[in-house]
Amino acid sequence: MGIRVGAAFALLCAAVGCSVNPVTGDRDLVLMSEQQEIALGASQHPQILKQYPLYDDPELQAYVDRIGQAIARQSHRAELPFTFSVVDSADINAFALPGGYIYVTRGIMAYLNSEAELAGVLGHEVGHVTARHGVRQQSAQSVTGLLGVVLAASTDGAYNDLISAGSQALVSGYGRKHELEADRLGAEYLANTGRDPERMIEVVRVLKDQELFDRELAVAEGREPRRYHGVFATHPDNDTRLQEVVRAAKRFVAGSTDDGRERYLNMIDGMVFGESEAEGIIRDNAFYHLPLDLTVKAVDGWKIQNSPSRLIFFREDKTGYMELSIAPLDGARSAQDVQQKLVGGPVSGRAVSSNGMRGFESRINVPKTPWGKPGPALMTTWVRGDQAFTFTGATADPAQLKLLTPDIRQIAASLDRLDAKGRELAKARRLDLRRVRAGQDFAALADEKALGPFAEQRLRLINGLYPDGQLDANQLIKVVR
Ligand SMILES: [Zn+2]
Repeated sequence: MGIRVGAAFALLCAAVGCSVNPVTGDRDLVLMSEQQEIALGASQHPQILKQYPLYDDPELQAYVDRIGQAIARQSHRAELPFTFSVVDSADINAFALPGGYIYVTRGIMAYLNSEAELAGVLGHEVGHVTARHGVRQQSAQSVTGLLGVVLAASTDGAYNDLISAGSQALVSGYGRKHELEADRLGAEYLANTGRDPERMIEVVRVLKDQELFDRELAVAEGREPRRYHGVFATHPDNDTRLQEVVRAAKRFVAGSTDDGRERYLNMIDGMVFGESEAEGIIRDNAFYHLPLDLTVKAVDGWKIQNSPSRLIFFREDKTGYMELSIAPLDGARSAQDVQQKLVGGPVSGRAVSSNGMRGFESRINVPKTPWGKPGPALMTTWVRGDQAFTFTGATADPAQLKLLTPDIRQIAASLDRLDAKGRELAKARRLDLRRVRAGQDFAALADEKALGPFAEQRLRLINGLYPDGQLDANQLIKVVR
């Protein structure tokens, strides 16, 4: 019977192109050859870089690539043409494409504290590639008839630090089984490159601490904690499966290990922390954008959220929503003309002015508000130079629009050029290294101006000492300036 089952399986494999898993040696249901896998990664790589541009620091890129290549050469698929990229995003994320394209954000790098932890992150992603998780996921989706929805990237939901309201994770994670396998492989690759596999647990702890801190924040802000990937439901210190797979890798360690802590910290000294100037910076509930020379302020009860294509304002009680989009005038002769082109028909309203700009305000009907229904909206467009700035505000309940109109008007009217103080606030924060002096503690080092509320906890997070780790005199640590 076994033979017949085997024969049937082999036939099925011939038909759909099963391949032998490089890690387990078993046959996988993978509808893709290695050449196709590499081609898939190569075709998606430019799309990733469009969304996540490379971080502009060739020395740091070369360093991460060097660490990554050493891991790749010790991996189960040493022959793959791996590439390692640091991308310019404050998100705490690392992800991999099939074929060996690996990405780490500067956001996650800011929270790592040694070369070994960086190697742990890279090893985990190399593990996803060597075990062909992305390919298996994409194949599984084509099998269930979702071929059209092939993922743009196979990212780790767990590493995503996506905020709130309208935003949704770009792509889903791999699930617990694949994550654990990637952790196991990452630990093995750490050991293979002369590092302590336990650093893998440290990396998971860095991510878990983000979640614990968000719970603390959520209580203070009276909101629900962000939904993180369920992968780290258990704290790494109590996660026996994780401990097991990592400890098993200890057998691969030969001789002493080197964490490369100070080497790593020196490499990320001066790195941008948080939002970049190119994205624009939110501070004290106002938005500052140096390259665009603009600032706009929220009002009480509203929060600002930055996304690549637009700036979003939302009421904390989720009753109101506004967005700002910026576009070239493109032949439009007035603010009213801009609106008519946007809406695709005549608009009527009134001329408005603010901060030396002329604009137009109208009440329009949108086919779909963020609450998914058609409804009224207040649209304000300012013209400055050859650009149009358009605010559109809507409410959960159409009847509320009148109530929130003063807020919406005030936010739209706050749009202005940067003054000297604004230009200072529009500058990105950066990491800076300090030697701890005797008696200095986190409270003394935490700069509320640079880090905002909960500065001490944030500084602890960056240094891997959340919630109550101690500083040693002469220890090298990161601060934010
Ligand atoms: Zn993963």
